[in-house]
Amino acid sequence: MKPLQKIVILGGGTTGWMCAAMLANSVNTKRINIELVESEQIGTIGVGESTVPPFMDMLASLGIDEVEFIQATQATFKLGIQFKDWLKKDETFFHPFGRAEAGMDELSLYHLWLRAQLNGDTFSRFLDYSPNSVMAQQKRFAPYKAVPGTLLADSRYALHLDAGLVAKYLRNFAQQKGVKRTEGKVEKVNTSIDTAPRILSLQLESGQTINGDFFIDCSGFRALLIGDALQSSFTDWSTYLPCNRAVTVQSEALPELPPYTKATAQLAGWQWRIPLQHRTGNGYVYASKYISDEQATQTLLSNIQGKTLTEPRIIPFTTGMRKQVWKANCIGVGLAAGFIEPLESTAIHLAMRGIAEFLQQFPHSDCNPALINEYNARLQQDYEEIRDFIILHYAATERNDSDFWAYCKNVDWPASLVQTVEYFKARGDVPRKLAPLFESTSWRSLCEGMNIRPSAYSAFIENADYKASKQHMQNYKQQLVSLVKQIPTHKAFIEQNCASS
Ligand code: FAD
Repeated sequence: MKPLQKIVILGGGTTGWMCAAMLANSVNTKRINIELVESEQIGTIGVGESTVPPFMDMLASLGIDEVEFIQATQATFKLGIQFKDWLKKDETFFHPFGRAEAGMDELSLYHLWLRAQLNGDTFSRFLDYSPNSVMAQQKRFAPYKAVPGTLLADSRYALHLDAGLVAKYLRNFAQQKGVKRTEGKVEKVNTSIDTAPRILSLQLESGQTINGDFFIDCSGFRALLIGDALQSSFTDWSTYLPCNRAVTVQSEALPELPPYTKATAQLAGWQWRIPLQHRTGNGYVYASKYISDEQATQTLLSNIQGKTLTEPRIIPFTTGMRKQVWKANCIGVGLAAGFIEPLESTAIHLAMRGIAEFLQQFPHSDCNPALINEYNARLQQDYEEIRDFIILHYAATERNDSDFWAYCKNVDWPASLVQTVEYFKARGDVPRKLAPLFESTSWRSLCEGMNIRPSAYSAFIENADYKASKQHMQNYKQQLVSLVKQIPTHKAFIEQNCASS
């Protein structure tokens, strides 16, 4: 079996450079050459600025200093997402990162709380027990490791960042580790003449040919290798998730830096607000069947705080994924592999998963089909888990004030989501998955926000004395609020510890 000798990455967006950085960090680049081809003329998509906590693990695994990275990318901290107007107008809920699980005597806090609720004892909300939610409400932030005691131990955070600066940072990192960068536009992809073709080389507009024995397609929505050259078909999920366009605009930085992304439901989709140190990212994600580009742009512009800094830009997309994200000697990563609309900011995470899983299955040059099958099955599970979580934000709505919401309410759910929600209603939890992104607290927050509650609490909870458990919850809630009052505001934390120059 011949080991791989040369890996070619096509594309230098967030995915391409993240891929280059992760590969170069894991393989000996003197033994396996890594070459990345990108075209400045084509450019990158330039959105994708809100992340989820595994992003921090990726930075740590690369040995990247968090403070230096935050300064270089104008980043702010993200504790979760605030959802406004999703269940109905003027109702808000929060999806916090980390856990809200400060239970008692090994008993689940959620079930202790649920028992009180089902008894009509409504002295608290579930999110009063989430350290992230309490910090977000007060717009305060401190990394859990820096706060003495254990009250913030279940907190986790991610970042809001400037996508262009991230690609630049990771490019320097990867080049220092031996990745070769080639500027040029791919004009033709040469494949073997075979019933199951492999990619042989990329031909650039300049006439240069780039050979390799494995290819990673990070060419964005174009999917030049995995889509065009290898014809891996696309599974379209827009029946479940009908938004297919976004209009984006940047505006000046917010005076207070909220440590969360805001997602406000609109008549034909939803609007994001992502606070960075030097500016704010805004976008309206919408379904073109229900609203025109002009109307969407108008809605976006009329809901922006502060002055705009750029002209509105329209980005079309289709939600779905490639049937085979690994085919022959090529994987598609990032937008080339698929895209689930940006509601839970999961695309960069899925790209990371694509690379991490490739490193797990790292092939010889023959690309054993067993590895390919395992890779494809795992990635499909990741994409479907996230798809289902996102669908529930729309499908459980009680809104009926536009054709868009009427459609979302009546959409048929995938069988996997039906099963998850049925289990949740019975057990107050979700079925165990191999490596889930969204764990119990995420589903519990979402379900609570969308008015889906189990009909019974766990039978184990009968072991806990009712009065004692209520006291425990009241004490914990108060302690959390007072602790958070002592930590800095998010803005002050950034100014003191990681402001960009
Ligand atoms: P791109 O940025 O499009 O990069 C493609 C690269 O391929 C470029 O370097 C280009 O030059 C190169 N290329 C293409 N064709 C050729 C060619 N012929 N020759 C040479 N080079 C070529 N993700 C998140 O995680 N969080 C978010 O909040 C989020 N928000 C989003 C909002 C919207 C509206 C959209 C559409 C996406 C969002 N995403 C988000 C996804 C995120 O933008 C992407 O995951 C991320 O930017 C990575 O994109 P990419 O690198 O795969 O593709």
